[in-house]
Amino acid sequence: MTHTHKVKTEDGPYPFRGTVNPHNPTPVAHGGSNWTYRCACGASKQVNHNGGEKEHGPWGLTPASFARTTHYTTTGSVRGSCGHKHRSRELARACIARDHRGCEAQGGYSDRRVVKVTHFLEK
Ligand SMILES: [Zn+2]
Ligand SMILES: [Zn+2]
Repeated sequence: MTHTHKVKTEDGPYPFRGTVNPHNPTPVAHGGSNWTYRCACGASKQVNHNGGEKEHGPWGLTPASFARTTHYTTTGSVRGSCGHKHRSRELARACIARDHRGCEAQGGYSDRRVVKVTHFLEK
């Protein structure tokens, strides 16, 4: 099935969040805004705008392939990081509570706090 994608809708602007074409970036188009161009078939591509400059990502680069992974970890200047990747803030809080109980047993306390970590996965 051959089909040439055509831009039907332009969604944006979204905040610039990095190159949309890691293999052939257009740095002059960076630092402005990010748009999602969609074809009637449902495919989309990411386009960065800055002034008159544009950087086009490849068609088919869906939000899924630009997946964001988020996890929560805990860290404190005294206790350091727990080194876990917790799936939710609640689980990270539970980890601190466990650490806190362990510290209390030794007469101290845990200074860890929850930190949200987000990675953009560029394929
Ligand atoms: Zn199409
Ligand atoms: Zn933890």
